[in-house]
This record gives sequence, structure tokens and C-alpha cells, in this order.
Amino acid sequence: MLLRMAIIFFAAVVPLAAQGIPPNPTPVQANPSPLTDTEALSREALVWLAQLIQINTTNPPGNEQAAAKYIAGILEREGITPEVLEVAPGRSAVVARLRSSAISNPSRALLLVAHMDVVGAERARWTVDPFGAVMKDGYMYGRGALDDKSMLAANLAAIIALKRSNARLNRDVIFLATDDEEAGGDASIRALIAKNWDKFAAGYALNEGGEVISKGSKVQYVAVQASEKVSVNVAVIAKGPSGHASLPTKDNAVVHLAAAVAKIGSYSAPVHFTTVVRRYFEGLAAISDDEVGKWMRSLEAPDRGEHAQRVISDANPQWGSMMRDSIAPTMLSAGVRANVIPGEARAMLNIRLLPGDTIDVLLGALSKLVNDPHVRFEVQPNAGLAAPTSSLETDLYAVITKVASQEFGGAPVLPYQSPWATDSSQLRLHNVQAYGLWPFPITDEDLARMHGDDERLYVASFNKGVAVLLNIVTDFAVTK
Ligand SMILES: [Zn+2]
Repeated sequence: MLLRMAIIFFAAVVPLAAQGIPPNPTPVQANPSPLTDTEALSREALVWLAQLIQINTTNPPGNEQAAAKYIAGILEREGITPEVLEVAPGRSAVVARLRSSAISNPSRALLLVAHMDVVGAERARWTVDPFGAVMKDGYMYGRGALDDKSMLAANLAAIIALKRSNARLNRDVIFLATDDEEAGGDASIRALIAKNWDKFAAGYALNEGGEVISKGSKVQYVAVQASEKVSVNVAVIAKGPSGHASLPTKDNAVVHLAAAVAKIGSYSAPVHFTTVVRRYFEGLAAISDDEVGKWMRSLEAPDRGEHAQRVISDANPQWGSMMRDSIAPTMLSAGVRANVIPGEARAMLNIRLLPGDTIDVLLGALSKLVNDPHVRFEVQPNAGLAAPTSSLETDLYAVITKVASQEFGGAPVLPYQSPWATDSSQLRLHNVQAYGLWPFPITDEDLARMHGDDERLYVASFNKGVAVLLNIVTDFAVTK
């Protein structure tokens, strides 16, 4: 079975040599210090990244088992014993541990997390094969190059470098590759924690979710994700009498729904500042141009705060989303025939709540706004759960701040509350101090390709990120 899988896998792989990538990474055995020779390490990690991209883990269906076996094989060759955890048919996670002592202390352990699944790719809109791991103009192209196979390869590199160096660890370091992150479904980290928490219980975690934003070759700032917004889907349902389309009435469900969606679309929820967001804007103001910086500093000013909030929200949709609950209508459905007035019309809203806000309060405000007895709201199942914010006072946060600032030319390191969700919220719900650190410097233009067409990562950025991650892990987990 394994052999057959290996044959199928390798037959599907585009020859890496043709793309300038050596097909077999040569382990760095001669070098006495794998913790400092990050150049050789990142060359190996680039091959892992390429081969992971070539394993199509589009979710659904995911098929992360193939990627899990590939990763397990690499770990085994390094003398690290992996465990492949079956989460659902065809869907697996991988866990591996470097021990600091005979008896583990989970509260001290450091977990390195990345997910193996990717979102779908519209092949026709890409200029290269999204699963080809094509190298072009100094970039690695492919679905997952950013989200999240680069982090996966960097985590792998970090645990392997620690193992090769025989580093004396002051805490366990645990590698975890998760599945079903993009859909957050039945095989996601929630299920993994429910069944296998003891295998990767940790007090600290590094995961995706942060950003190292660069302009040209200069890093502007480093955003370390310490909390995230909570995703909730809400159906808007309008009802009215169905009937012959030649006899329209005023209580047509389509008309009522359309009016409700139009009102919701122009609604802006009240602004709240969490500690993380407050500190983020304070730090960003210092490096922004005068005009933007001025408004960032005025966000909570009693006289012009409201105006400042509008200016900053308009300048960048992400900033707007960081200070309030956001609502995006995403789906519409009604009707079965062109000449039949339907009895029901539905819209779907994807809502992202600030941590601490509740859906009931927001829906109360929306009901008042819509003010239509024909229209009601229905919260959909599988809503995200609000998790506590990771502390900005931990040793790990201090290490991230110190190392990232050193490595990125003194760029400010800011706490960050992401508008999107990651596996970290589930970890935070289990008392893990989880930080989103995506260590690869990236421009806003390239970042916009995440989940989009021609996703790509600059190879020099990847190499830098591998080194930065390893330095953070070493600083935090290796006895000096
Ligand atoms: Zn991701």
C-alpha cells in the first residue's frame, strides 16, 4: 500500500531538477552547527515546500493523509519518531516530539503548528500549474506557498535542526501538522484536540496568522497575532405569500430581503478597541506617513475620534475590520421559476465578531435597523468560539519581539488581532499562549494572492523566515 502510494505520488511530481531545485535534499552532516547554518537548512526546506505543494491537499476533500505520510517519512529519516493520527478517512495529522527530559511538563512545552490542507485553485486563472511548485523570477509558485505549506516546511526545518544539533532543550518542542483547517470541519483541530490532546498538550504555540510586511526589500513592521475575530454565519430569511408573477404584491419576499440586505450592507457596527488593537495602531502610527499616523493617534480622541475611525477604516479594509464587528453578505437565494413569486428569500451573512462581542447584541442592532416583520435572522451552526487573547507579557512573546526586531533591521514588532480565524483560537481555549508568527517578509501585493490566483512566495523571503523561526525556537527552547 505504502509503495503504491509512493509510486503514484512520485509519478505525479513534476521533475524538480527542471525547476532548479535539487531532487534530493542533502542533509548537512559535515556541519557541526545546524542551528547556525540556516542557509543549507533553508535549501533543504525549500525542497520540502516544493514537494508539499505538489501533494494536492485541496480541502475539500483534503486528502491530507498523503502529506502526513510524506512528512512522517522525513522525520523518520532524521531519527525523530512521528505519529500519524487518523482523524477521518483519508485525513490525518502528524505529531512528533523532541524531549527535554524523561518526564514531560506540558505547561512548558512549545508547539509548532501548521496546517497541511489548502483552499481550491481555479487552474484557468493561474499562469502556472498551481500544484507544480514552479520556480519563476525568484519566486516559488503554488497553492499553499503562502498558506500554509511554507510555515509547515519551516516548522519541519526547526525541529530537524534542533535534533541534528543535539541541542539541550529546556522544554519539549512538539511538531504538529494539522488537517481540515481551511474548512474547520469535522476533521479539524477541534476533533484532534478532543481525541489526542495528551499527545501535543503545550503551554506555548507558534502558528500562522501574523505578518512581516515589507516594502521593496525593507521590512516595515512585524505583526504577531495574539487574538483573532470570531466567524459566525447568519441567514437572513424573508417570507411572503407566493403567487402568480403577473399579480405582484407589496409583500414579495425578494423585495423585503433585498431591502434588508441593502440596509445591512451600509451598516457600520460600533467601534471597540481591544488592548491588542490599541497597541497595534500606536506602533503603526509611528512608522506611517504623517497624515495616516495623525489619524491613527486620534482614533480615541473625544472630539475627532469618530472622524479618525472613518478615515482609517476607509484607508484599509483590514483596519476597519480590526475595530468593529464586520458583516459581509455572501450568498443569495430565492425563486424556482421566472413567473412565480417565491414564498421565501434568503441571504447569508458572514459576520466576524470582535473577541468579547456577542452575536445577540449585533443581531439586536440589525433587527432594529431592518425593522421589517417579514424578515428574521437565523444563526447557523458551527460558529467560531471566542477565545482568550494570548498574553503580551509571556517569555515567548518577549523572545519573538527581540529576535524579530534583530532579524528585521529594527522593524517594530506589533501585537495583532487578525480579522481571520486560525487554529490558534482552539489552542487558546485550552490555555495555550499561541502566537501567530508567519515569519516570511512579504509585500501587500503578494499577500493579496493568499487564497487567490498565482499564490507565490519569494524564495529569499522563505529562506529568511526559516532562519527567523529557528532562531526564535532556539532562543526560547534551548538551554544557553
Ligand atoms: Zn492558513
